[in-house]
Amino acid sequence: MPEVCGPGCPGKSVVKHLVIGGQEVGIAGFDSIMAKGLEHVKGSDNEQRDAILKELKVHNYVPEAVEKEYLQAIWAEFRQVRGKRLGQIEERFHGVPREEITWYPSIDYDRCSACGKCAEFCHRDVYTFDDKPHVENPFRCVVSCTGCQKVCPEEAISFPTLVALREELKALKKKHGILT
Ligand code: SF4
Ligand code: SF4
Repeated sequence: MPEVCGPGCPGKSVVKHLVIGGQEVGIAGFDSIMAKGLEHVKGSDNEQRDAILKELKVHNYVPEAVEKEYLQAIWAEFRQVRGKRLGQIEERFHGVPREEITWYPSIDYDRCSACGKCAEFCHRDVYTFDDKPHVENPFRCVVSCTGCQKVCPEEAISFPTLVALREELKALKKKHGILT
């Protein structure tokens, strides 16, 4: 069966089936849409959203009344793709494998009120959120960033101290022959 492409489709196109507004919808040009978003990976979420929406409309007819639902579904997909890409970009920190550095948020669930602000704030997709936040991708956390800790209204997020981080990095650099 030939692959169906939306208006403006330039040729071969990857169709991804997503549930939008309770219905399964085939999204044409899925790879191109993701690629457009990734072109703006260093920009703001809004820039990435705009790029995604524009490319979505190149390949698909998006009824105005449900544009928000389309964008919501495609944005959720993009966040996963973006997370993987960011993980690939920063596999090492100052020459040290990122996965050996124990810098990432810890959540005190006794204090957490499940407001979701941490997950919403973090652009690195460190968190996932269902009925509470989870530190799903710890090694995507930017070493020495404490942004989500600052937005948490319950002071439920903690990190190692900067002194501990410095010591750890020193030891790891020695281990990897980066520092003698
Ligand atoms: S510290 Fe920064 S990068 Fe790490 S989880 Fe929090 S907001 Fe994301
Ligand atoms: S911001 Fe704080 S209180 Fe809100 S979900 Fe995250 S950890 Fe919990």
